[in-house]
Amino acid sequence: MASPRLYSLGRYPAWVMTDRPLRLRFAPSPTGFFHVGGARTALYNWAIAQREGGTFVLRIEDTDEARNQPEWTQGIIDALAWIGISSGDEHFEGPYFQSTYAEAHIAAAERLYEAGVAYYCDLTGDEVQERAKANGKPGYDGYSRDRGLEAGPGRVLRFRVPEGTTIVHDLVRGEVSFDNSNIEDFVLLRGNGSPMFLLANVVDDITMRISHVVRAEEHLPNTPKQQMLWNALGVDPPVWAHVPVLVNEQRKKLSKRRDKVAVEQYRAEGFLADGMVNYLMTLGWAPSGDTEIVPWSRVVADFRLEDVNHSPAFFDLKKLSAFNAEYIRALSLDAFIEACAPFLLAPDVPWNPEHFNPVVFSAMAPLAQTRVTRLDEVVPMVDFLFLVEPPIDEAAFTKTMGGPNARELLSEVIAAYGTAEWEHEALKETLEAIGEGYQLKLGKAQAPIRVAVTGRTVGPPLFESLVLLGRDETLRRLQAALQRAGATPG
Ligand code: GLU
Repeated sequence: MASPRLYSLGRYPAWVMTDRPLRLRFAPSPTGFFHVGGARTALYNWAIAQREGGTFVLRIEDTDEARNQPEWTQGIIDALAWIGISSGDEHFEGPYFQSTYAEAHIAAAERLYEAGVAYYCDLTGDEVQERAKANGKPGYDGYSRDRGLEAGPGRVLRFRVPEGTTIVHDLVRGEVSFDNSNIEDFVLLRGNGSPMFLLANVVDDITMRISHVVRAEEHLPNTPKQQMLWNALGVDPPVWAHVPVLVNEQRKKLSKRRDKVAVEQYRAEGFLADGMVNYLMTLGWAPSGDTEIVPWSRVVADFRLEDVNHSPAFFDLKKLSAFNAEYIRALSLDAFIEACAPFLLAPDVPWNPEHFNPVVFSAMAPLAQTRVTRLDEVVPMVDFLFLVEPPIDEAAFTKTMGGPNARELLSEVIAAYGTAEWEHEALKETLEAIGEGYQLKLGKAQAPIRVAVTGRTVGPPLFESLVLLGRDETLRRLQAALQRAGATPG
């Protein structure tokens, strides 16, 4: 048998040591789109598993039948694969499905009952509330602790919380102490006999021989209860690490109602997986050195749970976009073109797919690559090349064509571009010279030309765009704009 691997032996105080083989897990509930916070937690686990030669177990906690949907499970698996966590890697194990282990959860509950550390209670939820009100103390008051009830329909099984203090040693939070008198005798089995989340989660972690539980901070309040369950089931608790919550600009916890939290959505908008991964890792942690933009290999080498900050981490969309732009610029041209393909070939592109010309796009690609922060911005940047009649932005048209000499300028440009050398420097110099005649700087002179040809006031460099569009099509659009502006074609 291979010798057990210790996690970062020597770098931690004795209390985080465990001689179990390193087994981490990620245990999402498939109740919605895959949340960026979940992705961050998964990556933290993944980085440790890869560096230390441990195992990353994926366990789908699918016991909430009312809220789980199979497509959410597939969404999680796909999104994890997108950020590099998949069964193709030797450190990956699973997915396991919690719903298939209900018998083991119930058996564990029965063991706790036999051992006297759990007992049945027949109070209804309302009765528990009424008693709490009368007691002036929230929560269940231990009413059935000594009533000796046996299992029966409608009876819940509760854990007998011992007196004293529960100390949770947490790699991120340090030592967190919980007064047991504030912890009610919590439910293990519902009145219909089905296991509660807390129990299922612990039993699965024990069965799967999990050595380290690295998860979101929102689970910290569950941890003393879970630690008691580990002990009651006769197994030393794992090493805990609770990583900070993600907050939005208003410092409110990221929520799927308020904020864009779905990993799938970022992917659909053209965030690159590598940039996303790098950014997610920095939510609560920073690599050593003067840049946060580091490859995954550096993350794996550098990441340490004890360096994770425990204050809330700001999910900064601007910073994520800046990371993404950098990752886009770092792609080779071929890789960039390939990454754009799903966006250019999507069913909802504004142009007729038969008019898409990959050679023209490849020529435009270097200009687009340095200008976009997300890949989906490429489509509106190049659409004028493949649309027969690019829609004109009315406000921009009126503004640029309404200027004092815009129509005259346009007529002159049409005449000059009829014979100019079709090359970007020549086109630029031609326009510059014509603009000078009207005391217009190049930028101002470009505006009506750009709107006429692309329909918009902003876009990729103009003269390169004209070269790609070709003389005939450029002239046709300039003529059309002139007509539209109400002048006689020159
Ligand atoms: N299934 C729980 C969740 O998605 C995770 C529990 C855990 O990591 O222990 O929030």
